[in-house]
Amino acid sequence: MDDCIYCKIANKTLTSYILYEDNDIICVLDILPPSKGSFLVFPKLHIEDYTSLNDEINQKMFTISKYISIVLKNKLKFDGLNILLSSGETGQKYRHIVIQVIPRFKDDNIKIYFNRFREDPSFLEELKKYITTELIRMSQQYLNSEKKEEREEIKKDIDYKLLNQWFEKRI
Ligand SMILES: [Zn+2]
Repeated sequence: MDDCIYCKIANKTLTSYILYEDNDIICVLDILPPSKGSFLVFPKLHIEDYTSLNDEINQKMFTISKYISIVLKNKLKFDGLNILLSSGETGQKYRHIVIQVIPRFKDDNIKIYFNRFREDPSFLEELKKYITTELIRMSQQYLNSEKKEEREEIKKDIDYKLLNQWFEKRI
């Protein structure tokens, strides 16, 4: 995307303070940080939909966020962290998937505010049932589908085998 700031950083049209990069992801210091030491981690490709992000890239983004945080904590002695992942339409200017890691300091006065509401218990129950049933169905799907043609229709972004291992004890 020509006008996306994250793409510009990834393709080096914009200079940045790069902490780590490989073929898939890049991590840079935030030049307009909400707090000292804030940094950004994002895929190099312009991907907007978090639900279609490859598992390996997802894991790498969170693991590198943790490793950089370990080093940063030694230097800045922060007291806590917020990790905010944004993708798609969130009211932000760019839709590119990005993780913002925000070190928090006691009395830093940063307010992350949500307008909370009391959810209907019957909707919570319905949603819980739907999600758990779907996860179990998905976890069985790979192992149950014997025919190759059927397997090809299965989403490649999901590791069904892993999902199945996680849910094995619950089935
Ligand atoms: Zn982009």
